[in-house]
Amino acid sequence: MEYTENNSTIDPALRDKMTKQNVFVTTLDFIYNWGRRSSVWPMQFGLACCAIEMIAAAAARYDIARFGAELFRASPRQADLMIVAGTVTKKMAPNVVRLFNQMAEPKYVIAMGACAVSGGPFADGYNVLRGIDRFIPVDIYIPGCPPRPEVLLHGLMQLQKKIDSQSIRKAEWYQKGLKREFPIPELGPHGLVPKFNPEVWQPPETDHRATHYGHVIRTGKKTKAPNLEPVAVTPSSPSSSAGA
Ligand code: SF4
Repeated sequence: MEYTENNSTIDPALRDKMTKQNVFVTTLDFIYNWGRRSSVWPMQFGLACCAIEMIAAAAARYDIARFGAELFRASPRQADLMIVAGTVTKKMAPNVVRLFNQMAEPKYVIAMGACAVSGGPFADGYNVLRGIDRFIPVDIYIPGCPPRPEVLLHGLMQLQKKIDSQSIRKAEWYQKGLKREFPIPELGPHGLVPKFNPEVWQPPETDHRATHYGHVIRTGKKTKAPNLEPVAVTPSSPSSSAGA
């Protein structure tokens, strides 16, 4: 993952020397990002088995509090990180987008686990979304089924790097005309309408899912049922069945 380093114009050696004399010189970007990355509050919700790993990351053994991210908020209005942990069904997807819309800016998304990234083992199912990034922008993808708590912590550190690379002067959430209300899909009789948000996701030109290791994989398309002729069944006589 590529990030632009947010370079300070202060000579690091000079800054360290001054710090020893109790003189602190910093930049607004540094202190603004330091405050944000040290207090990332995730939203308290989980969708499936990956959520158990997320809960384990918050417990004593892994202790997500070391990163200042232990305050899982029950309200989206108090959270700035959405960890999509688990299978996103098409029934649940509109609610996930609605919750994301209700979060305050600046906000970030971690797609945790194969299901949230791409549909995972249920990608061929009729009722599972093939990745939450079809409707909301994802900052960090964490593969695995399920990813262990250490991997979630690694993803959180990657997110902190991204926050560090941002500048208060160019932050998009302070720009005029920012549009961060994402359209909420509706569940119709044939799945979600629309199927994806073209502003955040476009279907690839070639469907790499069609072939896998050189042979075509099942795509879940319905095949026509065979036209079976009714077969007359003659009841067997009681004597013959008793002899058998
Ligand atoms: S990626 Fe695996 S562990 Fe995570 S929600 Fe999907 S099936 Fe469960």
